[in-house]
Amino acid sequence: MKKTFESLKISKSILKGLGEIGFIKPSPIQSKAIPVISSGANVVGIAQTGTGKTAAYLLPLFTKLVKAEGVDPRVVVLVPTRELSMQVGEDIEELTPYSDIRYAAVFGGIGWTKHAALIEPGIDILVATPGRLWDLHKTGYLSLKKVKYLVIDEADRMLDMGFMPQLRQIFEILPAKRQNLLFSATFSEKVEGMAQEFLDHFERVEVSKSATPARLVKQRLYKVPNYRTKLNLVRHLLENEEQFTRVILFAKTKEHAEGIFKVVKRKTEGEVRILHSNKGQSSRINAIKAFKDGEVRVLISTDVSARGLDASQVSHVINFDIPPRYEDYVHRIGRTARAGNKGVALTLVDPSEEWHLEKIEKLIRMEIPVNDIPEEVEIIPTEFDENQKQLREIDRQKKIDNPDYQGAFHEKKRKLSAKDMGKYTDKFKRTKKRQKRSKRRK
Ligand code: ADP
Ligand code: MG
Repeated sequence: MKKTFESLKISKSILKGLGEIGFIKPSPIQSKAIPVISSGANVVGIAQTGTGKTAAYLLPLFTKLVKAEGVDPRVVVLVPTRELSMQVGEDIEELTPYSDIRYAAVFGGIGWTKHAALIEPGIDILVATPGRLWDLHKTGYLSLKKVKYLVIDEADRMLDMGFMPQLRQIFEILPAKRQNLLFSATFSEKVEGMAQEFLDHFERVEVSKSATPARLVKQRLYKVPNYRTKLNLVRHLLENEEQFTRVILFAKTKEHAEGIFKVVKRKTEGEVRILHSNKGQSSRINAIKAFKDGEVRVLISTDVSARGLDASQVSHVINFDIPPRYEDYVHRIGRTARAGNKGVALTLVDPSEEWHLEKIEKLIRMEIPVNDIPEEVEIIPTEFDENQKQLREIDRQKKIDNPDYQGAFHEKKRKLSAKDMGKYTDKFKRTKKRQKRSKRRK
């Protein structure tokens, strides 16, 4: 049965705005979790990143709150990071254009008086990192007496970041009679322990690990023989300024990101920036802000640096290479097509990455369609060192699949065989011909 938001009994003032932001139908976790949350049960919701967990708890809570009321918050949403606090705040803003429900999103790292001023006029929902909630309560600016609903979002990251002691402190001061919701991308033993400690009885709502992302992302592959040809392809794609308006380019390592940055920066229209994990937090936030504001057209990042980055209107995510952790593929492509905008995720794979690609396709339960490399892109022959590296990697993969496999690779000079190269060989020949042709013309 296909559920609709109407059938989930979301309040009218909220329903009215959903279509406008591209929420046409509930995502799987939303269909499953919303009725249970509405029933009043404690809920543990598990679904991977990008599947719409935020609205899964916000929508039924808005319905319960009905409208703005009193001064002290009735809902507290605890989140692990500053970026996430801001993000959930923005989500509330987006989901409530026709409702008078008030909220504040607070986090550590800046003076708390500013946040005290935000909650002072009265709020219905407080989104907070644990430390900041504690500050505001200690200093007497925040009363938690009216809290009826508590959400712990990204519980797995809360645990990773060592928030347990702070959470215990907070639970001591919350009214005992309340509904608890815990959301997480993963359900580990630790998360289960946390749920048992804080939630007492709960219902677990889970959607399969490879649930489709909430929004529509058009995914495509390019099979590219080597690094330098990947660079050529990226440069060519970025020449299309009309479509590639806001692009995140992912690389697997910092060094890789640097290398790509140097080339792309020189050859591309518009501002290009790189997100460094080793530069200060403020420069990271500046770069993310400039990108969100549309001042930066191309942002180059590693998986680690892009944590918490949720820019709307990202037109394209380009995976320069396959992410070393397969789940990161879903995280990466989740940056595009936010809130119903159409987005495109392009992944560049060389021969040694195809094995990993297969694993990702298993994870997302789909085969990603392959695009041809555009005629204009020059295909460069694979250099000796890179060729050797690719062959070695392919050998390693074959050995994993088949422990008896002897290994075809010897430390001799050996080019990729036609079979190893697959399509690449044909493509390569074609390009050579074309180059000759164009030379002749000249
Ligand atoms: P998660 O918390 O599971 O990682 P989010 O709640 O951040 O995912 O949602 C990811 C994106 O999907 C957000 O940009 C959100 O606006 C969008 N989204 C959520 N639910 C829907 C829906 N039902 N229809 C369309 N877009 C949705
Ligand atoms: Mg989330």
